Amino acid sequence: MITKRAVSVRARPIVAIDGPAGAGKSTIARRIADALGYVLVETGAMYRVVALAALRAGLSWSDGARVGLLARDLVERRALSLERNTILGIRVTLSGEDVSDAIRTPEIAQGSSLVSAHAAVRAALLDLQRQAGRDGGVVLEGRDIGTVVFPDAEAKFFLTASPETRARRRYDELVAKGEIVTFAQTLADVRRRDAQDERREVAPLKKAETAILVDSTNMSIDEVVRQMVAHVKAVSAPT
Ligand code: C5P
Repeated sequence: MITKRAVSVRARPIVAIDGPAGAGKSTIARRIADALGYVLVETGAMYRVVALAALRAGLSWSDGARVGLLARDLVERRALSLERNTILGIRVTLSGEDVSDAIRTPEIAQGSSLVSAHAAVRAALLDLQRQAGRDGGVVLEGRDIGTVVFPDAEAKFFLTASPETRARRRYDELVAKGEIVTFAQTLADVRRRDAQDERREVAPLKKAETAILVDSTNMSIDEVVRQMVAHVKAVSAPT
């Protein structure tokens, strides 16, 4: 009997990492990209830039039509760019201005979750994400990579952890950056973003059927990275 095997047309796989806020996706995605020498695309940063640009333009984050046009315009003008910076991670620019820090505030996190619910915003950024990943040898990190952006990705993971663990990690990060926040506030923000991301109609946050579930609540980052890298190597075409 001949069994049909999925044969990758890409020489190097696409690695899709999805999951809720604070599951450690960014750190883990970066470590995996480094271990494999792959490009890293943090798709959440794109939604954050749209939220920041909308705020600066005086638009309401709930105005899907206007924010959608703004996102399309940013993509067409190539005003939004993510560059890998080996020391600091990702350098994000908006019309040439470095907004890497400006997009990492609790306010913009909330705004990005709101703008990402609009179909027009998602459609504009989808093109950018597909262009960035289509040749493989890339780690894309977000909420809908394995379900919508690259359902045919060779390696798909859904990375999660309990809300309390995720809020604790986020809280420690924010405090280290000098933000004035409380743990209760951070946990409430995590829960609110989860609810928004899971309940939206377009591309809700959910595990792709074929994604491997990784719960990092009781695992060290090293352990998670090791397991994920081993899986990616196992699905890579032999060279
Ligand atoms: O991952 P990060 O926290 O930077 O993402 C910011 C927001 O962007 C998320 O809360 C989510 O609403 C949205 N997002 C998305 N789809 C992605 C990546 C991020 O909707 N692929």
